[in-house]
Amino acid sequence: MPGTVIQATNLKQLSNLHGTFRHPIENLFNIANGNTGRIVPDYNATTKALQQFLGEAANKNKTLRCLGSNWSWTPVGYANDWILHTKRLNILKRILPEETDPSYFFEPDRVVFSQCGCTIQELSRELRRLNRSLKTSGASNGQTIAGATATGTHGSAIDVGATPDFVVGIHLIVSPNRHVYLERASYPVVSLLFVQKIDAELVRDDDLFNAALVSFGSFGIIHGMMLETEPLYLLQTYRLRLELDQVAPLAETLDFDAHPLLPFGGERPFHFQFLVNPHDLHNGVYVSAMYKRPYREDYPRIVRDFSKAGPGEDAPAFLGRLTHSLPVVTALVVNNLIKNAYAPYNDQWGTLNEIFSNTDTQGRVLSAAVGIPAEKVNEVNNLLLDLTTARVHLLGFMHIVL
Ligand SMILES: Cc1cc2nc3c(=O)[nH]c(=O)nc-3n(C[C@H](O)[C@H](O)[C@H](O)COP(=O)(O)OP(=O)(O)OC[C@H]3O[C@@H](n4cnc5c(N)ncnc54)[C@H](O)[C@@H]3O)c2cc1C
Repeated sequence: MPGTVIQATNLKQLSNLHGTFRHPIENLFNIANGNTGRIVPDYNATTKALQQFLGEAANKNKTLRCLGSNWSWTPVGYANDWILHTKRLNILKRILPEETDPSYFFEPDRVVFSQCGCTIQELSRELRRLNRSLKTSGASNGQTIAGATATGTHGSAIDVGATPDFVVGIHLIVSPNRHVYLERASYPVVSLLFVQKIDAELVRDDDLFNAALVSFGSFGIIHGMMLETEPLYLLQTYRLRLELDQVAPLAETLDFDAHPLLPFGGERPFHFQFLVNPHDLHNGVYVSAMYKRPYREDYPRIVRDFSKAGPGEDAPAFLGRLTHSLPVVTALVVNNLIKNAYAPYNDQWGTLNEIFSNTDTQGRVLSAAVGIPAEKVNEVNNLLLDLTTARVHLLGFMHIVL
C-alpha cells in the first residue's frame, strides 16, 4: 500500500480563489495520506512525512507555509518559497471514551479529531451521520478546518463565537524532530492513550494554546485538531426588509424583548445580521434571522434556486457572480441584482451545513471583516454610509453580522 505522498507541482505563481492577487513562489507541493485502511497508522505516517518535509525546507533555507482551501483574501499567509497544499489531508477520527481525560466526561462524539485539510463541509457531512454538528461556521463552508481556525473565520451565531472557539486541541509539528499535542491546562480533553496513539508529546498550557490557535500559519504545521461538536440541530430562517431606523436600536443592544421586530418577537435568534445597500437605503435594509430548533427528520428541504441568494449565502460570493460576468459594475446594476436575487423569504429550514453552504462562485471580489463592539455598530455603519455617499464609485455593501 502506498504511504504518504508529497509531490512538487513546479507552480511559480499562486492566486487565491477570488483572484484578488498573484503571488510569486518557488514551488507548490501537494501532500496526500497513504491508504493502508488503518487511519491512525496513515495519520502517523503523514506526521513523519511532514517532519521530513519541514527538515528539508530548513536544510535548504526555504520559507514554508501551508495552504488550505486557498480562500484567504490576502497573500499575507503565503511564504515566498515553498507552499504545502494540505487539503487532501482529510482523516476524521472518532474519539473513544478511553481516549479522553477522566475529567472530560460527556456524551459520545462530543469531540472528534480532524486532520488539518478536512473542509467544514466534509466535517459537517460526517458529523451528520453521527447526529452531530459543528457549533458554527463562516457563511460558506469550503474552508479547511486548519485554515478557518488559523484566520479566526467567524461564525455568525450571536452566542457561540468563531471557528477557533470549538477547537479544544491542536496537533502541531513544530520542528523536524518534535511534534506536540497542545491543549489548555484549564480544559484537558484527551488522555495519555490518545497522545501515545499519535505518537506526540503532550503540552498543556493555556497561553501557548491561545497563541497557536489563531496563528495565520506561522506557529508550525497544524496536522490535526480536536473539535467539540454538539447534537445535530436545524435552523429556521427568515429574511425581511426593515427600515434602518427600526433595526438600529436592536442592533446596538441585541435586546430582542425590547425591540420585538423579528418573526418570533422577543425570542433571541441563533443568528441575526443585516445587509445595508447604500444605493437603495430608502427601501430598507435586509435583515436575516435564524432560530435554532431540535433536529427532526421531516423538516421541509430547501429547493435551491441558483439565480437567487439562498438563506445564509454570503455577500462576497454573491457579489462575485456579478463581477464574474460583467466588466463594469454600476450602482444601478448592484441595485437590480440585489433586488432580484437577495429577496426576502420566510420559514426556510436546514442544518447549519445546508444553510451556510458551499460556494463555487469565483468572481473578483474583495471582502474585509472588522470586529466592533455591538454598541458601536450604528456609529460605524453611519461612517461607512457617509463614505459611500461621498465616493459614489464605491460599490460594495455593508454586511453586519451580530
Ligand atoms: C467565498 C468565501 C466566503 C468566506 N466567508 C467567510 C466568513 O463567513 N467568515 C469569515 O470569517 N471568513 C470568511 N472567508 C474567509 C476565509 O474563511 C478565510 O480566509 C479562511 O482562512 C480560509 O480557509 P482556507 O482553508 O482557505 O485557508 P487558506 O486561505 O488556505 O489559509 C489561511 C491561513 O491558514 C494557514 N494554514 C492553512 N492550513 C494550515 C496548516 N495545516 N497548518 C498551519 N497553517 C495552515 C495558511 O498558512 C494561511 O496563513 C470567506 C472566504 C471566501 C473566499
